Amino acid sequence: MAGYNQVLVLDLIRRNPGLSRSDLVQRTGLTMQTMSNICHRLLDAELIREAGRRQSGRGAPRIVYEVEPAGRYAVGVHIDPARLTLAVLDLAGVLRAECTMEIPNPPEPETILAAIDDGVSMLLSEHGLSIDRVVGIGVASPGPIDGAHGSVVGPPLLPGWDLVPLREALESRWGTPILVDKDNTAAAVGETWSAPRCEENFAFLYLGSGVAAGIVRNGEVIRGGGANIGNIAHLSADPDGPRCSCGGRGCVDVSAAPAVIVSSGIAAGALDPVDVTDAHRVEAALRDLARMADSDPQSSAAQVLDHAAAGYARVAVQLANLLDLEAIVLGGPQWPALEPTMLRVLPALLNEAYIGRAIHGIEVRGTAVGGPVAAIGAAALVMGETVFDAQSQLYLR
Ligand SMILES: [Zn+2]
Repeated sequence: MAGYNQVLVLDLIRRNPGLSRSDLVQRTGLTMQTMSNICHRLLDAELIREAGRRQSGRGAPRIVYEVEPAGRYAVGVHIDPARLTLAVLDLAGVLRAECTMEIPNPPEPETILAAIDDGVSMLLSEHGLSIDRVVGIGVASPGPIDGAHGSVVGPPLLPGWDLVPLREALESRWGTPILVDKDNTAAAVGETWSAPRCEENFAFLYLGSGVAAGIVRNGEVIRGGGANIGNIAHLSADPDGPRCSCGGRGCVDVSAAPAVIVSSGIAAGALDPVDVTDAHRVEAALRDLARMADSDPQSSAAQVLDHAAAGYARVAVQLANLLDLEAIVLGGPQWPALEPTMLRVLPALLNEAYIGRAIHGIEVRGTAVGGPVAAIGAAALVMGETVFDAQSQLYLR
C-alpha cells in the first residue's frame, strides 16, 4: 500500500499546492505518522518541496508543500504526416520546452524515428534538462493504432506504415517507458490537463492532416475498446456530396478532409494544382487558401472554406446529439488556417440544428493550449501513467 498512498499524496499536492501535513491527513484519512513518512520519502525523491509556512489556528505555523517542478519531466511527441511537434512537461504540468519540425519526406518509419531521436535529444540539451529525470515519452500518432502493443497500423496518410511497432522501437532506443496513443485523444488530454474544466462534456475536433474527435465526458477523456475512439471520417459532412467508398455520401473523408478542401480550392481556380497526397503541400495550400479568404470574403477561396466549415458544423451536430455535448473545442495543426472561418460559421449552424437547443446551447471555441496541444497531451499521458496513476502503484525512484 505504500506505493499507492505515495502516489495519492503526490497527486493531491500537485492539484492543490500549499497543503500541509495535517491538510493531507484530513483529506486522505491516513495517520500523521504515515503522512510524515510519505512526505519525507517524496522530499528525498525530489518529487515535492517545501513551499513556506502557513499560520492556521493558534499553533506553530505549518510547513506546506508543492510538487518539485524540476523533479521529473515527461516528453511528448506528436506525429502528424506534415510535421513533428515535441513538448516537455515538468512535474507541475508546466510546458518547459517545445519545438516543431517538418516531417522528413518521404515519411518513412525509420526516418521519422531518427527525427524523433534527434529532436528529443536536442530539445533536452538545449534547455538543460537531464534525461535521467525523464519518466517516459508519450507519442500521439495518426491511427489506426494497436493500443495494446503501441503499434501504428496503416494510417492512410502515412504510406509505408503498414505495421510500425512504435513503442518497441522507441523503448529500445531510449530505455524509458513509451506510451502510444491516438492524436485526437492526446489532444483532448492536452486540453483537459492544462485547462481543466470540471464536469464539462465536449468533443475536441482535431484538425491535422487527418481529422478525428477526442471525446471528453464529465471532464474525463474517454477511450474505446481499442485506442481508436472518435473516428469521424465517415460521418456526413455534406448530404449532397460525392459518394464515399463506405457506401455513404458526402462523408468527411470525401467532403471536408484537408486534402479535399485543397482539391476543391484547385477545382475552383483559387489554388494552383498541387499533389494532394503530399501532406506538406496540403498544409501550405490550406494556409494560402486561408490568406485569400481573409483578404476577400467574396472570393472562391472563402467559399471553399465556408463549405468545409459548414461540413464540420454538420459533424459537430451529430457528435453533440449523440453525446449530449456542451462544447466543441477545435485545434490541431490545421486549426490556425481554418480558425477564422470555423469560428464564424460553426456556432450558428450548430446551435440551429442541435436537437437540445431549447435546453442548452453549445459553445464553440478554439484550443486554450494552442499548437502543441497533442504533444502536451502525450507528455501528460505518460506523466500520469508513470508518476500519478495510483492504480498502477508505480515505483518512485
Ligand atoms: Zn464514407
